[in-house]
Amino acid sequence: MTETENRWRIPLTDVVVDAELADAVLEVVRSGWWSMGPRVEEFEQEFAGFCGAAHGIAVANGTAALHLALLAVGCGPGDEVVVPSLNFVAAANTIKHTGAEPTFCDIVGPADLNLDPADIEAAVTSQTKALVVLHYGGYPCDMAAVDQVAEHHGLAVVEDAAHAPGASLGGRMCGTLGQVGCFSFFANKNLPVGEGGLMVTDDDELAARLRLLRSHGMTTLTWDRHRGHASSYDVVLPGFNYRLDEVRAAVGLVQLRRLPEENAGRARIAARYREALGSNDGLTIPFDDAAGTRVPAHHLAVVVLPEGADRAGVRTALDEQGIQ
Ligand SMILES: *Cc1c(COP(=O)(O)O)cnc(C)c1O
Repeated sequence: MTETENRWRIPLTDVVVDAELADAVLEVVRSGWWSMGPRVEEFEQEFAGFCGAAHGIAVANGTAALHLALLAVGCGPGDEVVVPSLNFVAAANTIKHTGAEPTFCDIVGPADLNLDPADIEAAVTSQTKALVVLHYGGYPCDMAAVDQVAEHHGLAVVEDAAHAPGASLGGRMCGTLGQVGCFSFFANKNLPVGEGGLMVTDDDELAARLRLLRSHGMTTLTWDRHRGHASSYDVVLPGFNYRLDEVRAAVGLVQLRRLPEENAGRARIAARYREALGSNDGLTIPFDDAAGTRVPAHHLAVVVLPEGADRAGVRTALDEQGIQ
């Protein structure tokens, strides 16, 4: 462990490294097949099954997932895509990379950091093609209201579910609430792999297009040809190399089995924060609907300071306490 790692009494994120994880990696390394193959397929099926989705398509990272999802639902030059302003930059960047333009909608407010469906409505123009919703911090957004706006204007809904693996709304998993759901397995996410991503969808045609886009628009994979399942291929569209590899899929499979327990641990810690900080005058702890049908993934523990508070001072004080 390095000095910087040691410095934090309460790190932002932590990974559990044990023999099971190391063995899973070594097994793949020793197998000699490292590029996309049986482990990736297994990870896709397990993850899609976990979400209750028909298809899982693994990719190199969450940003690649968003990029392909936007392309697959038809976003391109001349289109606009609405995205919440309180966000990581990946969604806006990938919208630009399709040739479309991001238009930003606001969030509900300090007590609900998810996008405001009424403000989506205000951001929609005749050019609007799609909507990227984010479940901020792993708290499912108001999909019933989002769907109403999307249906009314004929918009595709792409879910940025990077914060929300295992979160659900009314018994349906985040990632399966729109046309395509995009997950990230970056090292600080709820399902940490290092780098990695995955898309889920129930739409067979979209799934087929996503698979083509992921691997050069080619109709067969190296793995298929290696197994003798195919001897040639066609290139049917200009795709990318956004593939995941076997080593990371093996890590993902181990982490996926641990996710429900990890999320439950996060929920316990979040409840303790809420209890300990909730009575603090002026502090807002967002997403306080204990009674709803919403099961959050608790990716982020957020407090909103009162207007005019010294945010930098609070950060420094936390830092001095070893709280990252
Ligand atoms: C992490 C993250 C992404 C991007 O995922 P990468 O795997 O890092 O490319 C996209 N959106 C949100 C909200 C994220 O937190």
